[in-house]
Amino acid sequence: MDDCLFCKIARKEIPAGIVWEDDAFVAFKDIHPKARVHVLLIPKEHVESIVHATSADSAMLGQLMLHVADVAHAVGLQERGFKTVINTGKEGGQEVPHLHLHILGGGQ
Ligand code: 5GP
Ligand code: ZN
Repeated sequence: MDDCLFCKIARKEIPAGIVWEDDAFVAFKDIHPKARVHVLLIPKEHVESIVHATSADSAMLGQLMLHVADVAHAVGLQERGFKTVINTGKEGGQEVPHLHLHILGGGQ
């Protein structure tokens, strides 16, 4: 998606505080953190939201969940614990229409 903000971050066209990355996912610091540690984990492939995922995205969704531990480890939250949040659609508070998982921790 040419004009999607998170696609642009994934393509490194917009700078972000990247904390973890592999070939298919990237995790970066939220620009307006709502916790001491607040990072967003996204697939590099554009999927608008969790309800736009299809059975073709099954492997990607599984990897997304598994990579939560990698990101938590990278930011020092794995032992301490954290919250994971996925906002969906207008009334779910989703501002950016590219699937992302919030990881929030560090003591609130
Ligand atoms: P949502 O409300 O869609 O679940 O979450 C979107 C998140 O993206 C918000 O917490 C917001 O602060 C963050 N965000 C919006 N624009 C940018 C940006 O340009 N860079 C970064 N790093 N985070 C952003
Ligand atoms: Zn996108």
